[in-house]
Parts: sequence; structure tokens; C-alpha cells
Amino acid sequence: MITDLRSDTFTKPSPAMMEAMMHAATGDDVWGEDPSVNQLEAIMAAHFGMEAALYCPSGTMSNQIAIKVHTQPGDELICGEHAHVYIYEGGGIASNSGVQVKPIESDRGLLAAADIINAINPDDVHKARTSIVSLENTSNRGGGCCYEFEQLEQIREVCDRHDLALHLDGARLFNALVATGQQPKAYGRLFDSISVCLNKGMGCPMGSVLMGSANYIKQARRVRKRLGGGLRQAGYMAACGLYAMEHNISRLADDHTNAKRIARALLKRDFTGHMLPVDTNIIIFDVQGDWTPVTFTDHLRQHGVLAHVVSATQVRMVTHLDVTTEMTDRVCDIIAAMGL
Ligand SMILES: *Cc1c(COP(=O)(O)O)cnc(C)c1O
Repeated sequence: MITDLRSDTFTKPSPAMMEAMMHAATGDDVWGEDPSVNQLEAIMAAHFGMEAALYCPSGTMSNQIAIKVHTQPGDELICGEHAHVYIYEGGGIASNSGVQVKPIESDRGLLAAADIINAINPDDVHKARTSIVSLENTSNRGGGCCYEFEQLEQIREVCDRHDLALHLDGARLFNALVATGQQPKAYGRLFDSISVCLNKGMGCPMGSVLMGSANYIKQARRVRKRLGGGLRQAGYMAACGLYAMEHNISRLADDHTNAKRIARALLKRDFTGHMLPVDTNIIIFDVQGDWTPVTFTDHLRQHGVLAHVVSATQVRMVTHLDVTTEMTDRVCDIIAAMGL
């Protein structure tokens, strides 16, 4: 039995989720006639207290649609230097929206309002028009860390003052909500658009949902079609999302507990260097001494545990619903038994 800690994208649908798919009511979603998609969009919008929602095949697509609708070609987008929208979406912001990025330094991917103010271009013909700020919560390259809500409120205020759209890449927003106890509707009030992934800790094989005002989502629906993301009987996939909304949110706390246990086992060992604080389900740490990230992950693989090398010095492990307590015990035992 393999314990796959490379990413929470490796989850497989559970038998109960498959059962929900088998019995999904479907129709043609491009025609707006898929009842399962319509229900998922309505449930998600209501959950976050936003007017409307759009089911998308991937989080990359929902982020890209979100940015396209908020911007004009030649605009500038502010985000963290390690933001997924910037470094992991294939140059999509430039290609899809004709928008340039001003990446800013941040504390583990969490932006400070003062740094955003400094990055906003003055109204000057030499400069690109700054039109949007994109935040990420939890922050993937920041080790799954979460924003304090006051931090977000300060950023909202800056965006209001400077007439900027505020987008949230909430690929792991449910992890942040479970870890902090913050309220989904408070997020709906604060952001102009929110993208959440169903294909990570929520355990779906695919899917993401973009939320915003009714008018915003109407425009987003056309961009989704243009990008080839209008799916026909998408209800078989949306059914997974409906199942996950009912069964897979509160259990994210177990993933966070398992991640903290593995982190503690690692921190007992001298080969573990600097580790980013483990707030949710992601562990990112330096490997030092006689081990390198490559030899370390090779050793784990020989014991049936997969981890991901994220840089020349760092390894990443991610817990999710296919990593049980027993698997976590085993991972801790393997780490405890490793040579110096
Ligand atoms: C995974 C992820 C996405 C979207 O990924 P898809 O695989 O396209 O669904 C977006 N942002 C962050 C921070 C992510 O981790």
C-alpha cells in the first residue's frame, strides 16, 4: 500500500462518491440544463454568500477566467512572488488576459496591505494600469499557511481606495476555514471573486468553482466557453462536488492533525532543517546533513511513501483524505528509524 504525500491532488473518489456519480441527474450544462451543476453552483454561492457561481474543470481555468473578466489587456496584476496564478499556470495571465504581473515579496505568500500600496502604479501614461490584486489562501508555496482575517480586511480597504478588484485563489480555502474557524460568508463579502478547488482536499477527481456577482459570473460563463471549458453532462462530476460539500469539509481537520504529527516526527530528527509552520495539510522543510531531498525521498519511496522535492533543499509532504491515521503512524515510524 503506497502512502502518497506528494500532493492532495492524488486523491481518488471514494466508493460513496462514485455511487453519487452513478446516480447523478444530468443535462447539457452549456445549455444551462444540468441539474447537478446548477445545484452545485447554487450551493457554493449560498455557502459563501455570493450571488452566483460557475463550475469549471480546473482551478487553473477558474483563476484564469477570474483574471480575464476583471482586467483589460495592458493592465497589471499584483500577487505574491510564489503565487500559483503567476508561477504555475503556464504564463496564462499574459497569454489569456494580456496582463502583466507585478509579483511582490511576502511572508510565506501572505501579502501585507502596505506592500500592496507600494506596488500600485500611479496614474501616469508611462505605467500599466494596476487593476487587480490576487491573493492565495491557503498559500501553497508558503506551506499551507492562512491569512488572519484583519490582514484581508486591510487589503480590501486598499483595493476600495484604489479601485482595484480583489480575487482570491482559494484552491485550499476550505482548509483555511477549518483551520482558523473563519466564516465562508465573511470571505464572500470581502472578495470580488473567489475560486475554490474541489480536486484537492475535497477529494473530487476534478472541478473548481468560481464565485462572484451575478453580472460577473455571466461574463465568466462566456470566457469559460471560449476557453473550451463548457462541458455537456458535467453533472457526473458536479455530483462529486455535491458529495464533498456534504461529507468532506469538517474531516479536513484530520488531515491537519496528521500533518502536524508527521511534522513533529520530522522535527525530532537532525536531518530536518528549517520547516515552515504547519497550519494546515502541507509540510515544507529543508533536508540537511547526510541527506539531500533526493536521497531522502528515494529512501521513503523504498518504504512505500511518496514525497515531493520542491527545491534544491526542500521536500514537501501533503496529507489528504487518502492518508489514514494508520498510514500516518507508519510514516512517523519510518522517519524515526532513518539513519542520521
Ligand atoms: C492546485 C492549485 C490551483 C489550481 O490547480 P488545478 O490543478 O488547475 O485545479 C490553484 N491555486 C493553487 C494555490 C493550487 O494549489
